[in-house]
Amino acid sequence: MKSIRVKILLATMPWLGAFCLLILIISPLQIKKALIETTTSKVLRVAGASAETITVPVYFQDDTSIKEELRRLWKSGDIVYIVIQNSTGEIIASQGLNTAEHVRYADNKGNRFTPDENLFLTVTPIDYQDVTLGRMFIGFKTDFIASEIQKIRTRIIVFCFLFFFLGTAAVILMSGWVTGPLKTMTAAAGQIAEGDLSRRVRVQTRDETGILAGSFNKMVDRLQELYQNLESKVENRTEELRLEIGERRKAEDLARENETLLRSMLEGLGDGVGIVDEQEVFTVSNPALEEIFGGPPGGLSGRSVTDFLTQSGIELVVGQTQQRRKGVKGVYDLEIITIAGERKMLLINAMPRFDREGRYIGTLVVFTDITQRKHAENQVREANEKLRRNIVEMERRNTELGLLYEMGESLQTCQSEEEIYAIGARFGEKIFPQQSGAFFLAEKTSGLLDIKSSWGNYPSTSADLDTSDCWGLRRGKTYILENPEKDLVCRHIAEAGLSGTPSLCVPMTSYGDLRGVLTISYAPLETKSRFRRNGVGSEAPLSGELRPRLAANLAEYIGTAVVNLRLRESLREKSIRDPLTGLFNRRFMEETLEREIRRAIWMKAPVGMIVADIDHFKIFNDTYGHEAGDIMLREISRLLTNHVRQEDVVCRLGGEEFLLIMPGATLDLVKARAERLCTDAHGQQILYMGQPIGPVTLSFGCGSFPDDGEDGAEVIKTADMRLLQAKREGRDRVVC
Ligand code: GH3
Ligand code: MG
Ligand code: MG
Repeated sequence: MKSIRVKILLATMPWLGAFCLLILIISPLQIKKALIETTTSKVLRVAGASAETITVPVYFQDDTSIKEELRRLWKSGDIVYIVIQNSTGEIIASQGLNTAEHVRYADNKGNRFTPDENLFLTVTPIDYQDVTLGRMFIGFKTDFIASEIQKIRTRIIVFCFLFFFLGTAAVILMSGWVTGPLKTMTAAAGQIAEGDLSRRVRVQTRDETGILAGSFNKMVDRLQELYQNLESKVENRTEELRLEIGERRKAEDLARENETLLRSMLEGLGDGVGIVDEQEVFTVSNPALEEIFGGPPGGLSGRSVTDFLTQSGIELVVGQTQQRRKGVKGVYDLEIITIAGERKMLLINAMPRFDREGRYIGTLVVFTDITQRKHAENQVREANEKLRRNIVEMERRNTELGLLYEMGESLQTCQSEEEIYAIGARFGEKIFPQQSGAFFLAEKTSGLLDIKSSWGNYPSTSADLDTSDCWGLRRGKTYILENPEKDLVCRHIAEAGLSGTPSLCVPMTSYGDLRGVLTISYAPLETKSRFRRNGVGSEAPLSGELRPRLAANLAEYIGTAVVNLRLRESLREKSIRDPLTGLFNRRFMEETLEREIRRAIWMKAPVGMIVADIDHFKIFNDTYGHEAGDIMLREISRLLTNHVRQEDVVCRLGGEEFLLIMPGATLDLVKARAERLCTDAHGQQILYMGQPIGPVTLSFGCGSFPDDGEDGAEVIKTADMRLLQAKREGRDRVVC
């Protein structure tokens, strides 16, 4: 409380001081100013009155009266000097200390104080009826003003001190009035704080203190009310707590029972149940869990799950724990190594645990031993995989069979061996899309094997192959080169640059006089696109698996097709050729003639024909015998064949009679050819049993389509008639 009073005092003191200082400064100045004004007007009034009084004596220049008047003025007091000047400035009378300096000063500056303010100098004109008679200079003493002011200043200082002390006392008193109630309120607040809520403050004033006291009392009233409410609330809450405690005890009993139940359930559970902390260390584990991990009772406590895991298992668990920290439950498989070193597969069912603040504190984990189930699953998976592989294999075989069937159909329509080889390569590529291969077959003439077709990376050309160059051909059975580093490598494989990979050679020797080999190199091709483009399907063999049976099938199809074609060609040859001379027979001649005539009509071109007959062949036969006759027939046939163009056809019409069909040949050309033949026949040397036989001559009858007939038969008839004519005319000639 003292401090408040001091504060009020300190706050008020500067103002009191300032007020006193103001009075000290202003008051003497104001008073001085008032005194000067009063003195000035009084002096000027005196001077005026004195001038009027002296006017008459001056006018009459009555010196005695003047002096008398001056003495009277002098006696009136406070005058230092009086000087009377006439109109010319001459001093006519003076009284007191006559200071010429002061008179001069007044004469120059008029009525005013001397600089030290001890004198007030006046100069007053002496006028009579508008005539200036002179001037009167009076010096009044004014030092009383300074003493007056000093007196007043002393009084004011005394007054200020008095005022200051009185003011201070009043402030102290008033602050006491203010702080008194505050003191009371402070004391009351202290009592209230000690618990006496019945305490009130009696302050009856109407000022702020009274208002504050009223508010204080209201506050205490409200506090008392709140206190009472609080007390009743506390009572209620105590009652509630009592009930709650009772219920909690019941709940605790129930929880204890549940815990006992849960513990017995945990202990009786077949699945392992455990709790791990955030460091993966077991804090709780049931007997089943200990059994799974192969530990003694309580043996898992304090051990980390990671002690039982492989490196990949640790990584899996660390990853899963990250999920638990986010509150995500997890179910996953985990392989462990038990204390006994046994590997087990567990199904993990993990639920994260968090404390009241939401911090992750570990995981509740249910471990189910699924080792047996996994084993069974693996067996089923393996069986399924096997089944799938079988199906794939079957589908593949099906595809391959389909391809073989398709190839067989294609082969049936082949008209030449080249077509067969091309089909062989095309289907070889489809059946062995990831491999390279080639067909080698022996030439009829040289007996060496020549590359006929190839696919994949196998070169399309190669040096001719001898039987000794291929181990498959040498041994007469399929040769498999499984290990290129150890097994013998065929020459053609090495030359093809494929000796670094497995290969197989399937000989094609068991079909008549056919000699050939199918070679497949198992070097996988670089791109799959090539294989897909072939359209075999995604299950076609991609690996380097050796497929000798499939290769043998492919070789057999191609070999059989070649043999069949050759057989067919041989039969056809036999059906259209004369066996003795090798020339085309009459049937082939008729077919050919009809075709050539049709083509000639379409191309508007001629077809020349020559009918030739050996002269006196019967005699030759009779002379040398039939065998010599046959030799003669063969030699003449060769002569005729050698003298015609590639497109000409030479036929044996029967006996010793021949027909030459010459497409596009005019009659002139035909005649020239016949005459050439007729001449060349003379030089034909025919040996029989080492002896020359002959000579031989021929007769020729020529014809040309369309000049000599409307069709082939008519032209032949005409040529025949001309042949007869040649016979008639002496033989060994040409008739056209
Ligand atoms: P011409 O000059 O008039 O043709 O008299 P030619 O003796 O040649 O004619 P002809 O028709 O009288 O005799 C044909 C003979 O050809 C009769 C037959 O013995 C003989 N001949 C027919 N076919 C063959 C055969 O295949 N071999 C042999 N060696 N002789 C054959
Ligand atoms: Mg004849
Ligand atoms: Mg004849």
